[in-house]
Amino acid sequence: MQVTIDKDSGFCFGVVHAIEAAEKALREEGHLFCLGDIVHNNEEVRRLENKGLQIINEDEFNRLNDSRVLIRAHGEPPKTYAVAARNRIELIDATCQVVLKLQRDIAASYLQMKRIGGQIVIYGKKGHAEVVGLLGQTNQEGIVVSSIGDLDQVDFTRTSVLYSQTTQSVEEYGKIIAEMRRRYRNGGGEALFECHDTICRRVANRARQIQEFAVQYDKVIFVSGEKSSNGLYLFDLCRRINPQSWFVSRLQQLDDIPFAPDDSVGICGATSTPMWLMQEVADVLRSKQF
Ligand code: SF4
Repeated sequence: MQVTIDKDSGFCFGVVHAIEAAEKALREEGHLFCLGDIVHNNEEVRRLENKGLQIINEDEFNRLNDSRVLIRAHGEPPKTYAVAARNRIELIDATCQVVLKLQRDIAASYLQMKRIGGQIVIYGKKGHAEVVGLLGQTNQEGIVVSSIGDLDQVDFTRTSVLYSQTTQSVEEYGKIIAEMRRRYRNGGGEALFECHDTICRRVANRARQIQEFAVQYDKVIFVSGEKSSNGLYLFDLCRRINPQSWFVSRLQQLDDIPFAPDDSVGICGATSTPMWLMQEVADVLRSKQF
């Protein structure tokens, strides 16, 4: 079997930075809390837990005192920082710079919209950690839309500023923008609509790259955690271009795939997939007996 790992797959710089920050703190103290999964990949989470990382949820965070807590790349809403200040929690803030800029832009637009009676619209997945952080910049007043159907919540007689979660699909965001423009135009209020391209370039570029990669192989093994939005999105693109694509979260799942000895196999993954895991998948396939 000929096995190739996609050189463009693997952690994005935001995730690399968060993991490096966690590992540094773990080397210093041997223990660190992290608010939510540091990355949407169970294998990587387990590796860091073995070094002393402890994942906590919001309730557990609210009850903590005098501790060190890592904020992951997705970022957090302002209330998290307020709790930390109140409970003497030292934050190691690994919010990705791209997300941080988006939070600041939304916070500034929110103040502006407050003054003129406008609204903030966020295209993203309701309840996703990054979206919770973004919505927090609007005092929970922003409108989160996940599909065109959700646009009925928007008041098209008032000004809107539209932003996107950083890991959304460029094509789907384009459809939302086009539909909002159409509705404003129909009401004669084109000037009331402003939109911003806030999808992370690392994610946007991956869509094209992964399809160029997937089309070259007989079979594609897409390695990702099941909770990764970016993983589900990129896998869907792989499968569309190469129907012989499989989603794998654990090595054991490789046993269910009908490989042939002369198969060419491409291994790729999401921005939350560790390179070491793709390497392990490659090692298993290279040692396969037929
Ligand atoms: S996908 Fe982009 S925005 Fe999200 S953590 Fe990675 S680099 Fe940052």
